[in-house]
Amino acid sequence: MNKQLILKELQQIINPEHILIDEYLKNHTYTKLGGKADFFVTPANIEEVQELIRYANKTEIPFTLLGNGSNVIVRDGGIRGIVLSLKRFLNIRREGNKVVAESGARIIDASRFALSEKLTGLEFACGIPGTVGGALYMNAGAYGGEVKDCLESALVVDSTGDVHQLAAADFDLDYRTSNIAEKGYIVLEATFFLEAGEYDDIKAIMDDLTYKRESKQPLEYPSCGSVFKRPPGYFAGKLIQDSDLQGKGIGGAEVSTKHAGFIVNKSNATATEYISVIEMVQKTVKAKFDVELEREVRILGEDEILTDTK
Ligand SMILES: Cc1cc2nc3c(=O)[nH]c(=O)nc-3n(C[C@H](O)[C@H](O)[C@H](O)COP(=O)(O)OP(=O)(O)OC[C@H]3O[C@@H](n4cnc5c(N)ncnc54)[C@H](O)[C@@H]3O)c2cc1C
Repeated sequence: MNKQLILKELQQIINPEHILIDEYLKNHTYTKLGGKADFFVTPANIEEVQELIRYANKTEIPFTLLGNGSNVIVRDGGIRGIVLSLKRFLNIRREGNKVVAESGARIIDASRFALSEKLTGLEFACGIPGTVGGALYMNAGAYGGEVKDCLESALVVDSTGDVHQLAAADFDLDYRTSNIAEKGYIVLEATFFLEAGEYDDIKAIMDDLTYKRESKQPLEYPSCGSVFKRPPGYFAGKLIQDSDLQGKGIGGAEVSTKHAGFIVNKSNATATEYISVIEMVQKTVKAKFDVELEREVRILGEDEILTDTK
């Protein structure tokens, strides 16, 4: 990979200010883990995203999309090629009883915006730290609500760089999953259908959910939230708790003593340590209860840089 050449070509597409080279991804993930991205780019508009996709396709440079990094673990060797962040796509607006949010906006902010507009339906999202795009990708949800319940449609770019407005049903949303990876879509904007409500009622629900979250989750440490999906018929946290794994760790990563479903980066863990704790939990729960814990969190990147990519 000729980095200088790629940089020059990227600078034809995006303002050089918005291209970071060898950027540590630990600066962009909730676990505070992750080696460097060769190029970390933050396009300003849809046209730049389209051009980037077409450039990556033409040159076969690997291309990875990152939201708020709240549901990914990036390995210590980082990510080769281009890491795209839509963190400049932040606009949130009202259209009738709908909220239209650009994909880089936090879904927490979409939820707060709905409150300010006295619209009900997005309260469940008031503590989910992902972007709107990441929330759609994961069909994020909490306390009985999920994106699927209120998504009307979304604007996406496909893997060839073409833009489409798709209906919610086109994303096959299901428990913490969608078809977005398989289809290769990049979500640009999502439209949520909501209903008129009372400010105080909406706020009361959000305050209650925030209290529940803050009292139960170890938000004082970096983590990726619940690491595992809920196995049919069980609760992952309970299985982990009953396996006596809370407080057990490897290096700087350990199973939270506050919430067994969380693994926290307690003191400068490496991604290798964090992933080893995940594997330890899966093995122990399997041996004790014969239940397979499926990861909710995605693992990206390489264990180590094998070649000099400069
Ligand atoms: C403390 C804490 C609490 C959490 N609580 C909850 C919870 O209650 N409920 C819940 O569901 N989740 C929860 N999560 C997990 C996480 O916040 C969600 O899964 C969130 O939807 C991930 O969004 P993100 O922007 O951080 O995505 P990332 O983690 O950056 O990425 C996740 C995946 O989404 C893809 N992606 C990101 N943006 C786009 C886009 N624009 N278009 C297409 N694909 C995209 C990425 O490529 C990646 O594959 C929690 C996490 C933490 C750290």
